[in-house]
Amino acid sequence: MASIQRAEGTFDLLPDEAKFWRKFRDTAFEVFGRYGYVPIETPIFEQTALFVRGIGEATDVVSKEMFTAISGENLNTLLGGGHLKAKSRLSLRPEGTAGVVRAVAQNGLVTQGGAPVKLAYAGPMFRAERPQKGRQRQFNQVGIECLGADEPTIDAEGIIMLMRFYEAIGIPAGAMRLLVNSMGCENCRPAYRDKVRAYILEHADALCEECQRRADTNPLRAFDCKKEGCREVMAGAPRIVEHLCDDCHVHYDAVKGLLDGADVAYVEDYTLVRGLDYYTRTVFEVQVIEGMGSQNAIGGGGRYDKLMAEIGGANTPGFGFALGYERCLLALQAHGFEFEPAVKYDFYIACVDDSVRPLAFTVAQKLRDAGMQGDIDHQHRSLKGQFKQADKLSADYVLILGPDEVAQGVVKVRNMASHNEVLVPLGEADRIVSSFTDSTAARAAGATS
Ligand code: AMP
Repeated sequence: MASIQRAEGTFDLLPDEAKFWRKFRDTAFEVFGRYGYVPIETPIFEQTALFVRGIGEATDVVSKEMFTAISGENLNTLLGGGHLKAKSRLSLRPEGTAGVVRAVAQNGLVTQGGAPVKLAYAGPMFRAERPQKGRQRQFNQVGIECLGADEPTIDAEGIIMLMRFYEAIGIPAGAMRLLVNSMGCENCRPAYRDKVRAYILEHADALCEECQRRADTNPLRAFDCKKEGCREVMAGAPRIVEHLCDDCHVHYDAVKGLLDGADVAYVEDYTLVRGLDYYTRTVFEVQVIEGMGSQNAIGGGGRYDKLMAEIGGANTPGFGFALGYERCLLALQAHGFEFEPAVKYDFYIACVDDSVRPLAFTVAQKLRDAGMQGDIDHQHRSLKGQFKQADKLSADYVLILGPDEVAQGVVKVRNMASHNEVLVPLGEADRIVSSFTDSTAARAAGATS
């Protein structure tokens, strides 16, 4: 029988990578925490209506890429020709913003006159895209959302902290390009959309069928088309910067001024519209300049002042971004990054014969209780085999325990790097622990023993 493989477009994070993913998240929460962002966890699935209303029906994400989540009972209802109530129509989250904004509205986190609510999340997202390098069906995002303030300082500090995070995780500043744009607001965008629609209709002959369709559904998305012919045509389309209202102009200039003041380099890209419908004013994207092919966006986001009201909450301005873990990893790997091994033991206890096993078990337990990481042989290996195993597990110290040592009331502690051996009294587990504590501290300080 053929063995069952993982589902298309999904990946296993094996231990070395799983450990790195934890570090990646921890680093993000640490950096974002400096700006007042605190963690939130929202469900992996939500009512489909949340994404339809929040992200927009005409977006690719909602119209083509959502995975439906359906219980067996509901599936039977559908197969039997029945209909599902709205609350039973569920989708796996294709992005994090809609769920966080729903949670903020539902739990009343934004209070009148209160400070803006700053939240950070990390976890898997699901999109039924055609899998390719850097494009998965389940992928991990880390993101932030700030609700309750429309000041440009929120946008600028958000962009700055994202760039700080990339550098903290090891992507060189010079390897990235930050693109910024303003999408305008409900006052200036509709007129601009009409201008782009008219432009698309005028140039329909030279545009692909999908862009022609976009004239009716989502004209600004034509700027996103990857086809060379469409890009050339859209390069001549009306530019949003020339159609922003005064308030949007002031906001956009303030964001750019704050980025300049922080020495964060950016490129203005008036074709940057981002895939989701909810953005107003600031939008931005971070790309890796080389080595990533067409999937070179490692993160992006923007302001969404209408989203909360769109999903039924009070009118509340918002700003957020999401970064893709897997694409950041590809960027890091393009710069020579390798995972650190997940397994790195402080100690390994080698038993000379079976008579000492119960004692070895007890000693191992004491060391673990004191915070050390390590193991004993669980497979009756020969002494030589146990040393090999200790090497594989990168143990710093091997404790050798045999009838002779037990008779003398000692354990032999071998430093695997220097090959030095010392005898430590078995009754003085403290001393064993302190010899490890020293070595662990020394390793943490970057010293080699
Ligand atoms: P978006 O929510 O589309 O703005 O995506 C934010 C970030 O998530 C992107 O910049 C990518 O780094 C990442 N991302 C989006 N879609 C995928 C995908 N299908 N596979 C892997 N990463 C993705």
